[in-house]
Amino acid sequence: VAELRELLESAKCVLFDFDGPVCRLFAGHPAREVAADLVEWLGRHGWGGLLPSEDAPPGDPHAVLRAIARADAGSEMVGRLEARLTAHELKATRTAEPTEFAADLIHALRAVDYQLAVTTNNSAQVVTSYLQDRGLIDCFDGHIHGRTQDLFRLKPDPDCLFRALDSTGASAAQSLMIGDTPADCEAARKADVDFIGYARNERKMTMLRDAGATTVVGSLQSVLRAVRSE
Ligand SMILES: [Mg+2]
Repeated sequence: VAELRELLESAKCVLFDFDGPVCRLFAGHPAREVAADLVEWLGRHGWGGLLPSEDAPPGDPHAVLRAIARADAGSEMVGRLEARLTAHELKATRTAEPTEFAADLIHALRAVDYQLAVTTNNSAQVVTSYLQDRGLIDCFDGHIHGRTQDLFRLKPDPDCLFRALDSTGASAAQSLMIGDTPADCEAARKADVDFIGYARNERKMTMLRDAGATTVVGSLQSVLRAVRSE
């Protein structure tokens, strides 16, 4: 807790990854089904060969996007693929599961004047829609930074963090990111932003530790307590 307090005290801006720290976006519309649909869609349009391995389609929709970005597929197709993923994500927001203590943490941080932003590989439109439905959008003052059509800029590239720093006016040293994947940890390191890992299970905990995260919590309640100085 002392460690969390120190991180929070040196920060004035908190950057949230979306899927994981805010909600489990694909709780009711599984990510692997979304990835399979994207793979199937690519195949139907004659672009299946762009994916590295047909017999093992990646279970992560963003892995499909990354693979397509690497394949240099052309902006029209990338735009259509990205739009298809956005439609899936919008559908997923309806059955997304709020992360325990996320809403309380967001409100508690705002109550003591932290600036808040979202830095995500998901679509900003999707994040905005989720936060609106849960009455949390006002806490973020429009600082929602999602993926662009430049798929090379997905995390672990720090692009969305840099956009958040630009829009909030906070420096990297004044910022702290909460994320749940090695890509978040790496993006924060590249942007020189402190990092708190959120791991809802042992597997995620190990992945974050292996990626070099030194502060990892199993529940956002620990962070909430540190904010409230409990
Ligand atoms: Mg995440």
